[in-house]
Amino acid sequence: IAYQSRLDGENTDCAFYDAAYTERMKEEQELEQAFEPSLENHDFTLYLQPKVRLKDGQVGGAEALVRWNHPERGMISPGMFIPLFEQSDKICRLDRYMFEQACVCLERWIKSGNKPIPISVNLSRRHFDDPNFLTWFSETAQRHNIPSGLLEFELTESIFFDNFKINIVKQRIRQMHELGFQCSLDDFGSGYSSLGLVKEFDIDAIKLDRRFFKDIEDQKSRDVIDCLITLSKKLGLTSVAEGIETEEQLSYMQTVGCDLVQGFIFSRPLPVEEFETWWEKKNRGTS
Ligand code: C2E
Ligand code: MG
Ligand code: MG
Ligand code: MG
Repeated sequence: IAYQSRLDGENTDCAFYDAAYTERMKEEQELEQAFEPSLENHDFTLYLQPKVRLKDGQVGGAEALVRWNHPERGMISPGMFIPLFEQSDKICRLDRYMFEQACVCLERWIKSGNKPIPISVNLSRRHFDDPNFLTWFSETAQRHNIPSGLLEFELTESIFFDNFKINIVKQRIRQMHELGFQCSLDDFGSGYSSLGLVKEFDIDAIKLDRRFFKDIEDQKSRDVIDCLITLSKKLGLTSVAEGIETEEQLSYMQTVGCDLVQGFIFSRPLPVEEFETWWEKKNRGTS
């Protein structure tokens, strides 16, 4: 639209475009400048969202999701800043920060004598540029005495279509396993998903994107979900349904035998303490 208005030579549109553009640039610059101090200040916060095991109703894991308690703007969502930070190495620093927070949380759970659940951390594709990036993650997990298997990485499906050679991604996933990390394919179905991915790469879990569940009353949608769950089972992958909001969606996932469900129907992502309260309450309810 902006491009069009420039062609039209409409000065007002053009001015509007420039103003909006300048505004956005300014905003991005401010967010970038606030990054460093915010990291030092612990203004980035670990939120956890439960993954509920359908077989027994227990909490089978949690996903780590970042929230930014911005000094001027208050709590802001990842959609506002992740794409920006992904344009530079800031995203790698943020992912490492989140991973360490997840380790701190797990360490506390272990020390308290509770049976810990695995935490999954989102990993930007940018890490893959560095062949040794896993060393830091492994050392950090060890420093916090986290037993292997309690930490997972979520890799968004787009990573598999990036500039990386297939063999590099395969190698990194192998390294993750050697170091004791699990690996899940995030947002499956949100873009150019290919069934080839799930057989080509040695992943442990597949997270079905929430768009699969939008039209759950539609038979075609149901058939697609059914097939994907069957496929996951055949390949020995853990299936996770993302963004489940309604009883209807939940009951269908139960019918097809999906392993884990994550979504507002159970809980929104919560600050760690609130998550623990929610978890305890749930445990009391089901046991
Ligand atoms: P994601 O990894 O696919 O995370 C799931 C997103 O779906 C989260 O959004 C979560 O709040 C949202 N969600 C969960 N259940 C429901 C539901 O029932 N309905 C709806 N409508 N949404 C639901 P969030 O927290 O805003 O994060 C957005 C994305 O930002 C994440 O998508 C992930 O790709 C990225 N992200 C978040 N934290 C990090 C991080 O620490 N590092 C990196 N690299 N990316 C992150
Ligand atoms: Mg994720
Ligand atoms: Mg996802
Ligand atoms: Mg995503």
